[in-house]
Amino acid sequence: MNDILIIGGGLAGLTSAILLQQNGYQVSVFEKKKYPFHRVCGEYISNEVFPFLESLNIGISESAYARINRLAITSVSGKILQADLPMGGFGLSRYKLDHLMYEQAKRLGVEFIFEKVDNIFFNEGKFHITTPGNTVYETPIAIAAYGKRSNLDQKLNRSFFYRRSPYLGVKYHIKTDLPGNLVRLDNFQGGYCGVSKIEDDKSCLCYLSETANLKKYSGIPEMEETVLFKNPYLRSLFKNSEFLFESPEVINEISFEKKSLVENNLLFCGDSAGMITPLCGNGMAIAIHSAKILADSIMRFAKKGSILNRIAMENEYIFQWEKQFALRLKSGRLIQRLFGNTFISDLTVSTLGKLPGMTQILVKKTHGKALIY
Ligand SMILES: Cc1cc2nc3c(=O)[nH]c(=O)nc-3n(C[C@H](O)[C@H](O)[C@H](O)COP(=O)(O)OP(=O)(O)OC[C@H]3O[C@@H](n4cnc5c(N)ncnc54)[C@H](O)[C@@H]3O)c2cc1C
Repeated sequence: MNDILIIGGGLAGLTSAILLQQNGYQVSVFEKKKYPFHRVCGEYISNEVFPFLESLNIGISESAYARINRLAITSVSGKILQADLPMGGFGLSRYKLDHLMYEQAKRLGVEFIFEKVDNIFFNEGKFHITTPGNTVYETPIAIAAYGKRSNLDQKLNRSFFYRRSPYLGVKYHIKTDLPGNLVRLDNFQGGYCGVSKIEDDKSCLCYLSETANLKKYSGIPEMEETVLFKNPYLRSLFKNSEFLFESPEVINEISFEKKSLVENNLLFCGDSAGMITPLCGNGMAIAIHSAKILADSIMRFAKKGSILNRIAMENEYIFQWEKQFALRLKSGRLIQRLFGNTFISDLTVSTLGKLPGMTQILVKKTHGKALIY
């Protein structure tokens, strides 16, 4: 019996593990993969969480990361819009960032169980969590931080799982000639691609595409040649870069639908609670911030080994989450409609080019203020 069990050791799971362990709870994290590992992610992190990450003592300031303060958006036909990013962000691979957080969690005494959780249910005030060997773990508080889509969503019968999601994500690390302070979003029919610098003079190239694009072609290379390369910026990027992975990281069934924050007393955070569209470039910041809100709610209503008021804890978390993120996720869904279509992306880039103030308004709609800790 642990104080708190967390399923999923991505940014949301690791942030809540560090905060809760630091505050005297005994925390264990289930993670199905071994660190360090690559994930599909654009690896541009909004500065809204930079001071908070510094406060976690993971060594973020000492890591080599790119400082990003300019945005460029290109349309399918090759029009370009450029703007400042007032808050800006930094580039660091998930391979490195998640590993830094994992190392700090371990130093604090968090236990890691490298297994895939098979099932979870709540009975008589306790969660029962099972792994493939049929080992059963029990805990009064469980956090579901297992990302955008997992086997557990089906086990828990979450409604979004049964609605097909039309997107796939593809990621590469590349060496290319790109200004270090720039994040560029290149549109193509049915999707968009982000590219920006990370550590060691590498860049992350990551795109979201409608799955229908892939179905039309024999595989990813043919889809890229036929669909992505219609944008001259993307064609030049692919042709003039050194690709560092043997094959790309790929995920599918990416859903931006509304999800529940608490179900059968299970507390969801990060992407498992709701995912912002990647073009906003702040899913990671939201995952980290939502874990901070959740840890605060737990610390307020549950002392080590006993829960003072479960319902108040759940309501407090829901209230704070909605206040911080509900509008941002909705704005992200609306703004995504301006991208990934030949005609609309052309119109968006030309219109925003004439109205620079409007670009800043759109950026602000999806970004929060610096996370206070
Ligand atoms: C194409 C694309 C591009 C993106 N680009 C950006 C960007 O540039 N900037 C940005 O801020 N955000 C971006 N995002 C969003 C960002 O990647 C996510 O918001 C963030 O990773 C969420 O973190 P998380 O901790 O909730 O989930 P994850 O990082 O996905 O972590 C979940 C963890 O749970 C584990 N897990 C799952 N099921 C189980 C199980 N049953 N048992 C044990 N472990 C399990 C997984 O192995 C994983 O490690 C992008 C997303 C996509 C799809």
